[in-house]
Amino acid sequence: MSESYVIIGDGIAGSSAAEAIREAAPDADVTVVTDEGEALYNRILIKEFAKGKLPEAPISIHEPDWYDERDIDLELNTLVTGVDPDAHTIRTHDGEEISYDKLLVAAGGTPNQLPVENSDAEGVHHFWTFQDARQIREHAEEADTGVVVGAGLLGIDLAAICGGQDVDAKYLMRGDRWWRYALSAEGAEIIHEGLREKGVEPVFESGADHFETNDDGEVVATVDGNGERHESEFVGVAIGLDFNVEILQDTEATIDNGVHVDEYMRTEVDDVYAAGDITQYWDTIMDERAQNGSWGSAKQQGALAGKTMLADAGHDVDIEPFRWVSSYSITHFDFPFLSFGFPTMGDESCERKYSDTEWRRLTFKDGKLIGGVLIGNLAPQSKYKQLIKDEAVVADQQDVLLQENFEIDELAIPQEQ
Ligand SMILES: Cc1cc2nc3c(=O)[nH]c(=O)nc-3n(C[C@H](O)[C@H](O)[C@H](O)COP(=O)(O)OP(=O)(O)OC[C@H]3O[C@@H](n4cnc5c(N)ncnc54)[C@H](O)[C@@H]3O)c2cc1C
Repeated sequence: MSESYVIIGDGIAGSSAAEAIREAAPDADVTVVTDEGEALYNRILIKEFAKGKLPEAPISIHEPDWYDERDIDLELNTLVTGVDPDAHTIRTHDGEEISYDKLLVAAGGTPNQLPVENSDAEGVHHFWTFQDARQIREHAEEADTGVVVGAGLLGIDLAAICGGQDVDAKYLMRGDRWWRYALSAEGAEIIHEGLREKGVEPVFESGADHFETNDDGEVVATVDGNGERHESEFVGVAIGLDFNVEILQDTEATIDNGVHVDEYMRTEVDDVYAAGDITQYWDTIMDERAQNGSWGSAKQQGALAGKTMLADAGHDVDIEPFRWVSSYSITHFDFPFLSFGFPTMGDESCERKYSDTEWRRLTFKDGKLIGGVLIGNLAPQSKYKQLIKDEAVVADQQDVLLQENFEIDELAIPQEQ
């Protein structure tokens, strides 16, 4: 009997796993199940589509042919509702059972809704899928006023969409700056200025208290925590993800704002693996559990999970523990922006401003570089990532690290680490 690999989710993690499995196991049954109505697309480009900058075509990565050519069974519009690890089956919303020998859960997350009045009104958007992007684009094209809530990496996409679509928008932030866990006031001000130039006004010490609607149930205004009313036919909310772990609730997998996996993407349940945004993985650089919401990391984890599933099924495949420094870039402004590693963690940081649009911040833990944010000049990113991978103790050499141009061999790195 042939072996069967079942993958929940056709995002970049699930799809990369399917590809890795098919390459090494030409005769295995491979099934990919997704609740979306379309095959893998480039999730990080859907913001450009919503801004009105890109047509649909370049966003698609896999046409249905891609699966046919590789003899991969793609089940669209199919929501997985549970896993029975004893029977080695998954259940779908229409009562179907699919058997697996090895199962990968690559189901990512779902955007959180604000727990305030009318947060589900017509015109209040959350942003995760291509289908969301189509609705956001259509609405932003016709809206005159908008509000965005959520001062993080997805919120700023919604703000840039408002700017790109000439929506007169306010960007409500709870604190005194954008992404306050990773940026100081000085660095964030560069972003605020970029937003203002796009016609988006940052509003600080704010946030949505509730939304007002008209008789048709459409949002018309946002009232912030200070009682101020902001006209908003369009609202974008990005306050984090709820990970789609409920599928695993009847299993012994450890669920803790994500699914625990080891450095090879194995959960604690036999023959069940997880990859991508949904994982709380063992980070071999930090030597602790970590979570990552980035495309590159999800792709690597998916490919590794596929290989681990093969290796555990007896295929002759080399697997190496997950060791990856992720990065996330923003391209909405005239200057580039990149965060890398874990810029919101650490016990020490240093920063420098080089010009009106050039700034850098590095974070350290136990003397080791663990992450940072670069605005304006991304050139040193590969050197910083190398230092993170090498677990180099360099916190005492911040002057060298913050030089506009620096070379790794200018650093005195202790050998004993
Ligand atoms: C607008 C936007 C912009 C982004 N920009 C960047 C960027 O610039 N750089 C970057 O690195 N990252 C970016 N990201 C994040 C990046 O896209 C994600 O980290 C990455 O796509 C995660 O991949 P994944 O495969 O783990 O999960 P997902 O891409 O979320 O895929 C999971 C899939 O599983 C499906 N699914 C969930 N539950 C079930 C179920 N029960 N049954 C069946 N199917 C299910 C989901 O519908 C989804 O299709 C962005 C994300 C968004 C939304």
